[in-house]
Amino acid sequence: SDSIDTAASLEREIKPFQEFRFEVAPTNTVTIKIKTESPGTAELFGTELSRGTPYTFTGCKSAIYSWTGCTLIIEGSPSVEYIAEETPMSTYLNLHIALEKLRFAASDCPPTADGAQGPRILLIGPPDVGKTTLCKILTGYSIRQGRKPMVINLDNGGEGILSVPGTISAASFGSVMDVEDGFGNSPMSAPSAIPVKLPLVYYSGLETPESGAARYKKLVTRMSVAVNSRLEEDIESKNTGLIIDTPSFENQANGDLISYIVAEFSVTAIAVLGSERLYNTMLKSFATSPGVTVVKLPTSGGCVDRDPPFKKACRDAAVKKYFFGDEKCTLSPYTVTVEFDSPTFALWEVVDSTIADAKTNLSFLPIGEDESSLQLEEVKRLSPGDIDSRFENLIVAVLQVDAKDAGAKEVGESAVLGFLYVQEVDEKARRMKVLSPVPGRVPAKALLVGKWPEGMFLT
Ligand code: ADP
Repeated sequence: SDSIDTAASLEREIKPFQEFRFEVAPTNTVTIKIKTESPGTAELFGTELSRGTPYTFTGCKSAIYSWTGCTLIIEGSPSVEYIAEETPMSTYLNLHIALEKLRFAASDCPPTADGAQGPRILLIGPPDVGKTTLCKILTGYSIRQGRKPMVINLDNGGEGILSVPGTISAASFGSVMDVEDGFGNSPMSAPSAIPVKLPLVYYSGLETPESGAARYKKLVTRMSVAVNSRLEEDIESKNTGLIIDTPSFENQANGDLISYIVAEFSVTAIAVLGSERLYNTMLKSFATSPGVTVVKLPTSGGCVDRDPPFKKACRDAAVKKYFFGDEKCTLSPYTVTVEFDSPTFALWEVVDSTIADAKTNLSFLPIGEDESSLQLEEVKRLSPGDIDSRFENLIVAVLQVDAKDAGAKEVGESAVLGFLYVQEVDEKARRMKVLSPVPGRVPAKALLVGKWPEGMFLT
């Protein structure tokens, strides 16, 4: 081999259509750049690297692909590194080309016509099969093509790629994505790292859709309404269409949720990764839906199972980054006191969803209750006496509805303004100390605390 490795630096030559796969522990840092003298280009999950620029990685499992071949210089010690010859990238590129054709057709239509709506693709499959990665690749390619994709993350249990974990979110991308960070989740716009507009965020406060299907569906509906109204104001985004990432759907029981999402977002294509069985189920389910195409896609051999501690570390890092930023954009959160007896204070909690869901199931309905009264069960308002140390180290969503007059229905469906982190609850003094990304009082908005993400120490 002609590579020159020293203790601190490795050189790796990637041939055309190969990729360099690497893993970096959450406690470690690795820097990678394309060798300045090297011809050729490379990309990380769809976003092109610029030659000679060092990119820093921490706590990730990732890959740098080259269509042309090139030489990489790696500084630091990845816990895993190798070059892979076989990748599904050409299939993914073909999918992108097929979507591009539909976008061309959409942008030919008058803006008001239905046809002006670009393709809306839903990515589904078991855990760790590359759904989020493909979402990044398709987003990166369409941005490079000058498009403006609207990306929707419905995976409330994951890292929260556009916001903090526990949320579903959407954002329209009009500029290049951040190589090190993918989509980026900071609350404030860092010029290099952040998509065009602030993301739309709804806080589910639950780990999986199944742990509160009724609430999850409600938020999906709110999100689809909000997304459609944004698209109506932005013809370029409308022409480009949607790229929708999902939680892991692997068994029959999820069929109902998938159909729900397909209907709410008027999905036109379902791409199934990593499960022949799910693919066949989808083929059958949508056989009579002429507007929906189902395709099967190969999973990359580079996809790795992330064990629970790694996933937890990624979630914690995402929350930490929301408040403190990263090396490129450091943020300094403020410590703010919140008084429970203030007239503008209202803390709500996501209710144990199994109870809420059982009650929404009509067969369990007590006589005399109708469905509308049961929606009240998904969130409940806490009285100051109920607020104790169990809320320490959790995040709290600041909703868009006012604290004063919002009822359970408004709180249950409201979008999010931002997040707080509870540092300390003083039960006796009836107040708590929270971290806030912005200075000054906490706005007089309803606050919502959930079951997910689980508590963590922010230091
Ligand atoms: P899913 O969304 O289906 O759960 P991800 O797209 O998050 O799966 O992929 C699982 C893990 O594998 C992630 O850490 C991702 O960065 C990693 N990964 C995906 N593709 C590759 C690849 N080609 N090489 C190395 N790691 C990869």
